[in-house]
Amino acid sequence: MNDIGNSPSARDIENVIHSYTNLDMHKSKGPMIIEKGKGVHVFDDEGKEYIEGMAGLWCASFGFGEEELIDAAVEQMRKLPFYHQFGHKSSMPQIDLAEKLVEMAPNGLSKVFFANSGSEANDSQLKLQWYVNNALGRPKKKKVLARIKGYHGVTIAAASLTGLPANHAEFDLPIANVGHVDMAYPYRGMETGETEEEYASRLAFQLEERILAEGPDTIAAFIAEPVCGAGGVLVPPAGYFPKMQAVLKKYDIMMIADEVICGFGRTGNMWGCETFDIQPDSLTCAKQLSSAYMPISAVIVNDTIHDAMVEQSKKVGTFAHGFTYSAHPVCAAVALKTMQLMEERKILEHVREISPVMQARLQKLADHPLVGNVRGVGLVGAVELVAEKSSKKAFNPKQMVGAHCAEFALDHGLITRAMGDSLGFCPPLIITEEEIHVMFDRFEKALDNTEHWVAKENHRENA
Ligand code: PLP
Repeated sequence: MNDIGNSPSARDIENVIHSYTNLDMHKSKGPMIIEKGKGVHVFDDEGKEYIEGMAGLWCASFGFGEEELIDAAVEQMRKLPFYHQFGHKSSMPQIDLAEKLVEMAPNGLSKVFFANSGSEANDSQLKLQWYVNNALGRPKKKKVLARIKGYHGVTIAAASLTGLPANHAEFDLPIANVGHVDMAYPYRGMETGETEEEYASRLAFQLEERILAEGPDTIAAFIAEPVCGAGGVLVPPAGYFPKMQAVLKKYDIMMIADEVICGFGRTGNMWGCETFDIQPDSLTCAKQLSSAYMPISAVIVNDTIHDAMVEQSKKVGTFAHGFTYSAHPVCAAVALKTMQLMEERKILEHVREISPVMQARLQKLADHPLVGNVRGVGLVGAVELVAEKSSKKAFNPKQMVGAHCAEFALDHGLITRAMGDSLGFCPPLIITEEEIHVMFDRFEKALDNTEHWVAKENHRENA
């Protein structure tokens, strides 16, 4: 037995800086140590079992302990554990993977640049917009519009594109050349009597007004997640993306689809772009690309962008961008195997078959006194907790109702994610119908615990 001073928990507190954690609170609360995983389950260091209702961070599509992915990594490790792609170098896994991604990509996207994370890929997107517009003789066309509540990562450019206050506060962000427009958020954005289509038209009109106010010749691109994930699983209203894209096309503004969560089956199609009728000029993907077993991301661009990149690199002498681990052969081999398993195991068909079960269980939660809104598509969804259903009145953020609900869920063996007072569900794509039911049975208990706690603390009255 570890004495307390030398326990893993104490050593964690002593040495680790945790992402997305209140670092002061961590000193007393300490870590939740996950020791192993199998299928949709993970186990903590005391052996307690949890359903990973978020596939980790929206990413472990094949769950935990998938032997074929492990074997693909080991095999590639033995053959060529590392090589890079600078200065014309290549390796077979990256050639095979790039070819596969081009074959799969929407809207004829034709060339692949590899990075290691969603943030790096989105940083690259911004740099490419600047590089390419210089090549196209449009030196003023440099701004990228993103959306309030959108999530695109945490590096300097990606965090600037992200539209969440905590990612900007005290980091001196956003940088120049990034702007934000309203999120499509039907529950809170639609006006009384407005249809989804009318709401979508209004958002497209607002986008046009913003473009005209800034000057169309200054706006290079618009970036959006097909379904906004970390902002609270916000599913766009009917007709949203075609209407937004009509405006973008009018002013020659590129559409960047951030498919980091939606890509590879999450919404029931290979890409969120297919589900929501988006024709991207460029696409970012990561996470489920390798079922998160190895870090890898990709930017997939169209010929216009690529041709301009070629011109610039000719002028400068090199395309001076890329990472030591871009297209790391082990990561690429695991990604390739992930794509192969998606086909062999008919993952898209499976998602289409069982997502109605998950969406029905979500819908059932709408009757709960705490639940103001449920939303979702495919195997991603959320419930939003409110102080008063009729007026949609929110709880006071200081009451941390969502975070408490997520803690109650842990007690019942479920890992979910609180995004403010919205609780997210994004299980591994391999989840079975029976496991979906267990996941929601556990969550319903957590909701009841939250209801009792809210009543006991008088949180409704003090919201
Ligand atoms: N884009 C989206 C839509 C994401 O959800 C995320 C991460 O959750 C990112 C980008 C950033 O990815 P990473 O954490 O790998 O840098």
